[in-house]
Amino acid sequence: MKRLVWLLALAACAAPGPSSFDLVIANGRVIDPESKLDQVRHLGISGDSIAAISETPLVGKDTIDATGLVVAPGFIDLHSHSVAADGQRWQVRDGVTTALELEEGTFPVADWLARLEGKSLVNYGVTAGHIPARIAAYQGVTTLADAEAWRGRGEDPSGPPTWSHGPTTPEGLAALEKILESGLDAGGLGIGFEINEAPGSSREEINRLFQIAKRRSAPIFAHLRFMGVDPIQGSLAGAQEVLANAAATGASTHFVHLGSSSTSYARQVVELIEGARARGLDVTGEVYPYTAASTGIQSGLFDGDWRARMGIDYADVEWPPTGERLSERTFPVFRRQGGPVIIHFMKDENVDFLVGRPGVMIASDAMPLPGGRGHPRGVGTFARVLGRYVREKKVLELPDAVAKMTLLPAQRLEGVAPSMARKGRLKVGVDADVAVFDPATVIDHATFANPEQASTGIPFVVVGGTVVVRQGEIVSGVTPGRAIKRGQ
Ligand SMILES: [Zn+2]
Repeated sequence: MKRLVWLLALAACAAPGPSSFDLVIANGRVIDPESKLDQVRHLGISGDSIAAISETPLVGKDTIDATGLVVAPGFIDLHSHSVAADGQRWQVRDGVTTALELEEGTFPVADWLARLEGKSLVNYGVTAGHIPARIAAYQGVTTLADAEAWRGRGEDPSGPPTWSHGPTTPEGLAALEKILESGLDAGGLGIGFEINEAPGSSREEINRLFQIAKRRSAPIFAHLRFMGVDPIQGSLAGAQEVLANAAATGASTHFVHLGSSSTSYARQVVELIEGARARGLDVTGEVYPYTAASTGIQSGLFDGDWRARMGIDYADVEWPPTGERLSERTFPVFRRQGGPVIIHFMKDENVDFLVGRPGVMIASDAMPLPGGRGHPRGVGTFARVLGRYVREKKVLELPDAVAKMTLLPAQRLEGVAPSMARKGRLKVGVDADVAVFDPATVIDHATFANPEQASTGIPFVVVGGTVVVRQGEIVSGVTPGRAIKRGQ
């Protein structure tokens, strides 16, 4: 007993003195999806990491009072095409502390990372991309700006470009392999695929690139070759191609945006993924909480008889600059021009199913908003899940939603980037990336008519110990975001 008293006295002496932490987040409901902690605690942050999680109050140089609020790990978005644009100014107010471009990826990886170094609000990272690599290999492109310019071009009257529709050649495939390997060496977090953007890619090409991924312990992020209701050449065929390559090579594989990838086959595609997991394969998926998709009108998705394949018509497709729906007359006009369209084609019940399904992660597929127009998912995805799917529709429980935005995406990347083991959790020693939100009010405001409306109910966001959102406003002059790279 005497010994116990002595130990308690020693513990009291070791308790933090005045201002022993740089930042304290006090009185919040701390949710840690790894330990399943869900209790009121005080968080002490020193430098860029979490130094204490305490039942008793802590003293810091700066204090955030989180009474009545949830304190969660910052949200990790595995799917953002808007990282390099001012998209992260919208995402950070949606609770995102790490935004990653994993589906499309890039070329050259080093140049993409260099663009953001020292300038980023949130943590960032990118894959070596199959499409950018194809543009480099087949169009002789060597710079990031040129690769991006090719991507945004409208339809050429003389025919589709070689990078997308040209068949796989032995020289092209050899060049692709070299480009992707060098992207992984430069810190690429895996290989990103948008297979239906390059219908010329042979089955052998895709298989060979899965082999590289396996050899380099790099995950695959896959947008399917086929997405639609067609019973033979639809979503199930697309999913089966990817799963066959995952099984045969053993490469870790992640299905992007399951809602638009699986269309009306949401349950069947999830059954395929879960079946593969049950047989020991490392296969996962993600979803964004909207019933409309968005992609370039010049995409291979709109080749041939796309209306029958996808089970939609011109009027389901929106042209964001004017908000008008397409027609037989305007479709070819806009296709020659090029630019993103919004496709209203998913069913609520399928999106509800995917958002609620255990193991399916939340990721935004954020896209830039030229002229303030475009898909709202890059602005409101995370608040939308917390406000509409957890609170209003009760599709899932709050701690499960937090896990789908934090721990699960961190675990997806730990094999390729060990630093991700310090994200997606709240425990002593991990990176101080934190989202503080009000579960009673958190909500998205971004709409298809007016996407540039930030989410509310997420008053504080911390990246690497630096407060980047305070009382709902972006703090000016702070750029704590760091690169997340393969092997680090
Ligand atoms: Zn996609």
